[in-house]
Amino acid sequence: MNILVLNCGSSSIKFQLINMDDESVVAKGQIERIGATDAILKYKPVMDGKKNITEIRTIQDHNEAISLVINTLLDKKNGVIQDKSDIDGIGHRIVHGGEEFIESVLITEEVKEGVKRCIQFAPLHNPHNLKGIEVCEEQLPGIPQVGVFDTAFHHTLPPKAHIYAIPLEFYHYDRIRRYGFHGTSHAYVARMAAKYVNRPIEELKIITCHLGNGSSITAVDGGKSVETSMGFTPLEGLVMGTRSGDIDPALIIHLARLKNLPLPQVDALLNKKSGMYGLTEGKSDFRDIEDEAMAGNEKFIQALDIFCHRLKKYIGAYAAILDGLDILVFTAGIGERSSYCRNIILSGMGYLGISFDPEKNERNEYDIGTGPTKVLVIPTNEELAIAQDAKKILESLPVTI
Ligand code: ADP
Repeated sequence: MNILVLNCGSSSIKFQLINMDDESVVAKGQIERIGATDAILKYKPVMDGKKNITEIRTIQDHNEAISLVINTLLDKKNGVIQDKSDIDGIGHRIVHGGEEFIESVLITEEVKEGVKRCIQFAPLHNPHNLKGIEVCEEQLPGIPQVGVFDTAFHHTLPPKAHIYAIPLEFYHYDRIRRYGFHGTSHAYVARMAAKYVNRPIEELKIITCHLGNGSSITAVDGGKSVETSMGFTPLEGLVMGTRSGDIDPALIIHLARLKNLPLPQVDALLNKKSGMYGLTEGKSDFRDIEDEAMAGNEKFIQALDIFCHRLKKYIGAYAAILDGLDILVFTAGIGERSSYCRNIILSGMGYLGISFDPEKNERNEYDIGTGPTKVLVIPTNEELAIAQDAKKILESLPVTI
């Protein structure tokens, strides 16, 4: 069974074709700068004799982009499928499922209406996710599609964790609450962690740290998300590449007044110019930041300290909520590869049963803990998780003859 996984953003599409018989990637790639004359396609087939393709050309819209993805997969020379019908199903990453979608679903007209209703919560993402679904309906007619929501895993957050302490009417009438994101990744690495320790997830207390350009941390109790650091939007919580994470909300009003900034500019300031970018005055890539820190640049050392301090604070808080901890997981770009950050975060955590082997940490090994609480570095694989959900749903469909 071949599943095409699509992550459709405003100006980019990431894709992977996964053979679910053995969960192997058949081909993957991405298109960037959709809408521009210098849009770029990067395609990587994982098959002997097939070559990578990089192409720069005009790509007007998502229609053209998805058509290019399909034609590249079908390409006589470097393609990996003969016919569109070699794609058995399509799995779409959808950012926001609101309170409507608590698990992955087969795409129907009703589901599309639901995704549309959730645009109010993710106006920058859901419209493009929906567009991807509609374009596939046109270009790959008859091939079933599945929606996998970033928010779904967090639907188990209890009211005490998801309701903001603002007048309750905003929750009841406007659905303003904490939703959480990165759910597919948190759920995937929590499952992998349980598999690794060979214990049922139902009996484990796990904290998962997804540290990428966007970062969030989740407390997983018995396989269920019970707390997570992103909230109504992905701005809440940890310090991120360009996002501030938690701040005193009064700062928004203060900044708007002090600098005479209109609210959209305050929004941009907190989402695009803050976090590591703001603290280092111009850098958000952790490789650059760590290089500077290692060369002794105080501003960069301080920025990394602030990042790690916030995360450490959350780990302590989540251990308190879980009433203990069996496994601490690091994942995504920084979580998987920044031994520098893990070293700071994990030091002085003996009270949680955490100690670690510095050499294993340095080598980014899978299992770096030496104390009773496991510390695991688990590569996330959101595409595979989406394909797994899609496969499960497709297999449950009635067979038509
Ligand atoms: P995204 O959220 O866009 O999927 P990733 O999970 O790929 O992001 O993570 C991107 C982050 O990971 C960047 O800040 C990048 O600098 C960081 N990163 C990648 N490789 C390393 C490395 N070897 N050491 C430290 N940080 C790294």
